[in-house]
Amino acid sequence: MYAKASALSRYNENLMPRLLEGKSALVLGVANRWSLAYAIAQAFIREGAELTLTYQGERQKQTVEDLAAELKAHQAIGCDVTQDDQLTALTNALKQQGTVLNAVVHSIAFANREDLSRPFVETSRSGYALAQDVSAYSLVAVARAVAPVMTSGGSLTTLTYLGSNRVIPNYNVMGVAKAALESTVRYLASELGPKQVRVNAISAGPVKTASARGIKDFSSILDFVAQRAPLRRNTDPLEVADTAVFLASRLGRGVTGNILYVDSGFQIMGL
Ligand code: NAD
Repeated sequence: MYAKASALSRYNENLMPRLLEGKSALVLGVANRWSLAYAIAQAFIREGAELTLTYQGERQKQTVEDLAAELKAHQAIGCDVTQDDQLTALTNALKQQGTVLNAVVHSIAFANREDLSRPFVETSRSGYALAQDVSAYSLVAVARAVAPVMTSGGSLTTLTYLGSNRVIPNYNVMGVAKAALESTVRYLASELGPKQVRVNAISAGPVKTASARGIKDFSSILDFVAQRAPLRRNTDPLEVADTAVFLASRLGRGVTGNILYVDSGFQIMGL
């Protein structure tokens, strides 16, 4: 009985069209194998997308190029999202190749480490501005940069976290940046909707990545969520990636301006 069922599911898998076949995607924010963007890149390739990755700077170039080769991504291009000339160069590179992008994933955030450990009231003006620039404004900058090559509509997805609307210990300035990011999603969705570009955010539960390690006592957040979330476990990056596939695919065609929680249900809990 079980053998039959699994043979049938294998048969169906082979017949199922891949969800991103024929689509061209850009994923910004792979730093290493633990990055949420890496899980998303894997899922996009699995579903048949032609994929371009970006890396932040020279320090990450080799790692991301190696990962791109391993994934059989089309290419990896350097792009620091705080540098307008690099965003322009990204647009020009894609334009010159004749790329028409259907899906873009923005999986980028940064705040000074000290601003994720000391009292929020001590956040400096420059630390606040930096977190906003990299983690929220960059979505506007990326949306503008990809507009000339997103000529047949598509999907722009970013990554956010519950700290945008609830107080999470030590998330501090990043929570404020995520609130701005989520509002940015709504304004962009309203403006780009008539061009059939959908803009959404995935609010992921906590996952141990390089960025997350910068948050003081992050492992206690992981423990707390695993105990209290309705599903009684932490978020698997592949669950986030599958939701990114859904949003980028035809299945998500009616969804825009949304914050989708992929967090084992933690966000519904009061206590
Ligand atoms: P990560 O450290 O792997 O990814 C962060 C990425 O941001 C890195 O690739 C880094 O190079 C990039 N970046 C930072 N500054 C940049 C700049 N100036 N230009 C270009 N790229 C820049 O960590 P992650 O956890 O995968 O984070 C990805 C996204 O997911 C972030 O927006 C993060 O806030 C969000 N998120 C993470 C969690 C979690 O628990 N890990 C939960 C919810 C949301």
